[in-house]
Amino acid sequence: MATVQEKLLVLVALQDLDIMIRECDDKTHTDKLTAMGFTQEGREDLEEARKELVGTIDKALVNRYERTAKRLGRAIVPITGNICLGCFTIIPTSYTSSENRDKIMQCENCGRMFYWPKGS
Ligand SMILES: [Zn+2]
Repeated sequence: MATVQEKLLVLVALQDLDIMIRECDDKTHTDKLTAMGFTQEGREDLEEARKELVGTIDKALVNRYERTAKRLGRAIVPITGNICLGCFTIIPTSYTSSENRDKIMQCENCGRMFYWPKGS
């Protein structure tokens, strides 16, 4: 079973993939890429990678991610200096205490999930 930190990394990767998949579906963006000589074949690979990622964490967490992403765009955001980078609200210090690093925390203001960038 994956640790919380590993699950958060999976969610961050999932979010990056979703952004890339959306870019594939954006015609203005793909026209630009085609003009630069890139092909569209990558989309299937992205979908495949997404499926694999989703399979590594619990369904409930994936659902939570997808619900939040649908509502807010970015479902998981980093915290820096006790500030939620989703809504720029200051987080109570208790949130960032070491015991909470083993939990998936979410912003009380905007509902996005947090992850701690490396080294913080
Ligand atoms: Zn927030």
